[in-house]
Amino acid sequence: MMSATARWVHRRLLDHYGHPTWESNYAPVHELIGTILSQHTSDVNSERAFRALMTAFTSWEAVRDAPVDQLTETIRRGGLAVVKAQRIQAVLRMLTNSDGRVELPDLRRMRRKRAVDLLTSLPGVGRKTAACVLLFGSHVAALPVDTHVHRVSRRLGLVPALTSPEATANALEAALDPRQYYAFHVNLIRLGREICQAQRPRCEVCPLSERCSTARPSQVKLNDRAGRAENTAESRRSRS
Ligand code: SF4
Repeated sequence: MMSATARWVHRRLLDHYGHPTWESNYAPVHELIGTILSQHTSDVNSERAFRALMTAFTSWEAVRDAPVDQLTETIRRGGLAVVKAQRIQAVLRMLTNSDGRVELPDLRRMRRKRAVDLLTSLPGVGRKTAACVLLFGSHVAALPVDTHVHRVSRRLGLVPALTSPEATANALEAALDPRQYYAFHVNLIRLGREICQAQRPRCEVCPLSERCSTARPSQVKLNDRAGRAENTAESRRSRS
């Protein structure tokens, strides 16, 4: 049932938004560091921090070896700069090979589980960040579950209300064809930003309302309260 509904959601979002253009301009290490910078901040701020990082340093080795205060100052606009600077340098040190170069093994040549295990063994890298690196950086099938995908999936009833982001990722990946992951991810985030917003879902214009388990206004209000409580708890955890 969940698979059928997930596939219906995918088709309906394709009808509504179209097939998203593939946007993946970064190498895996860039994607990894960029996703760490995006934790707990807006896209605008994380992109500013990433651009500042790329302007200030000419290599990942230079980022790794920089005084941490300099790196913190460089990425300050991304928020949580002290934590992120330490985390980025720790990750880059762990990815340093015997020649002293920062190198992420080719994830496309690994079994997917091994690639996920490798990425999630890095400091501050959780399932969502690993999925971003796989999907956007390496073109390996993975479905990142950010706060929008998580919230909308629960509201739709694709997963039970208290399902964790990790369990939501497992359920969605099992329900969909891997070739559908990218479009589903991008379109569900768009729906979450534009229509199924955290505080005030606009069910009256939602293309998914006919099969949404919380579409009725009275239920949406209840769901909002539950969603806010969950979002607050969620925001305390690492986004990754
Ligand atoms: S019907 Fe309402 S609660 Fe359901 S997905 Fe659409 S906007 Fe969100």
